Amino acid sequence: MNKTKSINPYTGELLKEFDLLSEKVLNEKLQLSDQAYQDWKSVSFSEKAKLMKNAAKELKENKDFYAEIISLEMGKVIKESIAEVEKCAWVCEFYAENAEAFLKPDLIDLPDGKKAKVLHQPIGAVLAVMPWNFPFWQVFRFAAPTLMAGNTGLLKHASNVPQCALAIEEVFTKAGFPKGVFQTLLIDSKTTTQIINKSEIKAVTLTGSEKAGASVASEAGKNIKKSLLELGGSDPFIVTEDADIPTAAKTAAKARMINFGQSCIAAKRFIVHENVFEEFLEIFSTEIKNLKEGDSLSPDSDFACMARADLAEELYAQVQKSLEKGAKAILGGEKPKKDSAKFSPTILIDIPKDSPAYSEELFGPVAIVFKVKSDTEAVQIANDSEFGLGGSVWSKNQEKAEKIATQIETGAVFINSMVASNPHLPFGGIKKSGYGRELSRLGILEFVNAKTVYLG
Ligand code: NAP
Repeated sequence: MNKTKSINPYTGELLKEFDLLSEKVLNEKLQLSDQAYQDWKSVSFSEKAKLMKNAAKELKENKDFYAEIISLEMGKVIKESIAEVEKCAWVCEFYAENAEAFLKPDLIDLPDGKKAKVLHQPIGAVLAVMPWNFPFWQVFRFAAPTLMAGNTGLLKHASNVPQCALAIEEVFTKAGFPKGVFQTLLIDSKTTTQIINKSEIKAVTLTGSEKAGASVASEAGKNIKKSLLELGGSDPFIVTEDADIPTAAKTAAKARMINFGQSCIAAKRFIVHENVFEEFLEIFSTEIKNLKEGDSLSPDSDFACMARADLAEELYAQVQKSLEKGAKAILGGEKPKKDSAKFSPTILIDIPKDSPAYSEELFGPVAIVFKVKSDTEAVQIANDSEFGLGGSVWSKNQEKAEKIATQIETGAVFINSMVASNPHLPFGGIKKSGYGRELSRLGILEFVNAKTVYLG
């Protein structure tokens, strides 16, 4: 393949086509990234912060423009695309304001009276392999800390969002970042794995599926380069019998349906106490039924479609197999039309353990709801997953909710709230959801050399 296509998934219309980079141009870009790093690593924090704030300004002032590119290219409804662009501005401002303090040397007083310090120095070009689901946010949450640390960034974006990939490079150019500090590489996934051994690339971060993560991380490992993986999730949403059920059920619908269900931290498995199961299900399904389908560019639409027709087909195959195994659809469950990215929101109950719905990630608008007899059973089901990204617990008893939170095997648990990423909070998973953390101080420390200097 030497071209990449930008297609509007709602209409199926081909928007644009782009040539992939030739080997020669790709090598030139890698060299440029390394050359740019030689100067960028010594630029002061105040200068870097000024440019990062310019990037935030560019995003805020032109949010409608960037949001339209997102909605047209991957089907997210426009109100969610605008919110995504605003969030990108937030993360740029956050690291512009905090990077220097986060990277301040740590001073260590040794027991023998001697001292040492730990510097946090940049390492060079970091390659980011990114997914289409939040095509701006995923990139900015990598780029803001990485560039503020003094590294350069190389973006290999998902093949279906080339316009987003190029627009993001443009944001940094318009903000005044020196040439080569942030570059988009229009390359395919095979070439991505092949360039990890290049000397210019010092580390790699990937947000995406388990398969892509394993491929990129094993190549990085072979070349003794650091990797960070943000992979799939099947987040539990536990509703105990003393929860505020209307609030929990309404939030549950939002947590499942945001981005039309195509979010790693979407709540995917609803685990509800039997005493409140019917009430929860009634409100939850009504909320989902009331969502309005429409064109991704219409401000009234709550959802449009999935990002690609093949993704709708794959999701339906998981639903169909689960129904064959004995799951029951209380909403949706219909087969999508051929070559269409549209999908009926679906709710499944009575989920058999040997069905895809029980064990696989459902990356789209399909909710599965379990009925449990106790909090212990809820935690057991929550942890019976290969994934460990986020989780949500609902109870009016804070002590009980915190106890359950400690028992859930994930990188984050939110009490009486849906899981959401926030620049102030570390973000990342355990188990097959990956390793490493993005955002907060931990995020910026992932791609620096923590250098010990013994002061004698
Ligand atoms: P994907 O198919 O794994 O693609 C992600 C990126 O990896 C794309 O740029 C893709 O390029 C590239 N890629 C795919 N296979 C590769 C390989 N063998 N070698 C090198 N690069 C490869 O995932 P997706 O469908 O875009 O995203 C959905 C998945 O991402 C879900 O599992 C979701 O949960 C996860 N996700 C996780 C987080 C998190 O923070 N933990 C956030 C968002 C999404 P091509 O497009 O060219 O194939």
